[in-house]
Amino acid sequence: MTPTVDGETIVADDLVIPFEGLDARLGGYEDSFIILSHPTLEKVELWVKSDFVDALPESLREGLVAVRTTQKKKTASRARWRWGALVAFLAVTVWLFTGGLANMALKAIPYSLEEELGDQAAEQFTSQAPECQNEVLTGAVTEIMDRLVKRMDEVNYEYRVRVLMSDEINAFALPGGEMFFYSGLLQEADSEHEVAAVMGHEINHVVQRHGLRGMVQKAGVSALFALILGDASQGLQVLGAYAAQAGGLKHGRDQEREADTLGVALMARAEFDPQGAVAFFGKLAEATGDDGGTMGRLAAMASTHPASTERQERLGELAGTLAPAAPRGLDTEWLKIRSLCSP
Ligand SMILES: [Zn+2]
Repeated sequence: MTPTVDGETIVADDLVIPFEGLDARLGGYEDSFIILSHPTLEKVELWVKSDFVDALPESLREGLVAVRTTQKKKTASRARWRWGALVAFLAVTVWLFTGGLANMALKAIPYSLEEELGDQAAEQFTSQAPECQNEVLTGAVTEIMDRLVKRMDEVNYEYRVRVLMSDEINAFALPGGEMFFYSGLLQEADSEHEVAAVMGHEINHVVQRHGLRGMVQKAGVSALFALILGDASQGLQVLGAYAAQAGGLKHGRDQEREADTLGVALMARAEFDPQGAVAFFGKLAEATGDDGGTMGRLAAMASTHPASTERQERLGELAGTLAPAAPRGLDTEWLKIRSLCSP
């Protein structure tokens, strides 16, 4: 509907607005309209495109042109603001990808909050596969964990390991120290040293907060700001959405390397034989090859862990230099107990 000018009034449909006492302001999307109102017309406004002003008599135009001029200035300043916002956004994005913001958020997340996140994520794994109740096997796995944890420099979490009855060859740790070992992996391990190797690796993903970092980076800028600004409960809520993926999180190549190096060192300090790392991860490498193709039951583990000859060489070197004088295993004979929880 286009309003028209009739004598001393503006006419739009059955609305007649006198020039006298006419009020104008800017509004609408990007202030592209001039909104006309009149004290006698309660709650009624007439929205006109700014070029409508040209149709008005000179006497009225002056005031409305002033409104239009303000509009132009505002649009110009908005354009500058937008440009500034874009630059700021790009800066934040770059910062985010170089980890600056994530680092800040990580520092702001207390260990207790991380444990809560881990608990949230843990629930869904316990519902996927029954938990092994055999005390001989779970006792042995827990003993391996206890020996490793005892030799850590700093223990910030309450570590816990559970065995899930599943043929899948997989193990992972959640932020906060919850670990899951599948019975399929235990069965594939030819000695407790191989289990200790996987666990040493997983524990160091926790220590270095790799899983948490992954979640933080996925959660995005608003969650990071919530965390940095100290709104922990909101942060927990946002991160909780990503907790579900925590078990399947793929860590970066550097993070894997770090977990390998620290893991082998830790298992050696706990007097396990680091050759266990070479042996177990060697099975992964053999099954997948350098091209990354995955096979059968090893697929889950191989999809989240590098299996390359380069890794094998590195592990071999580490194992050679870090081997304890006299590695010792568990009192129970591993090969006799490893299948106790197989489904
Ligand atoms: Zn890993």
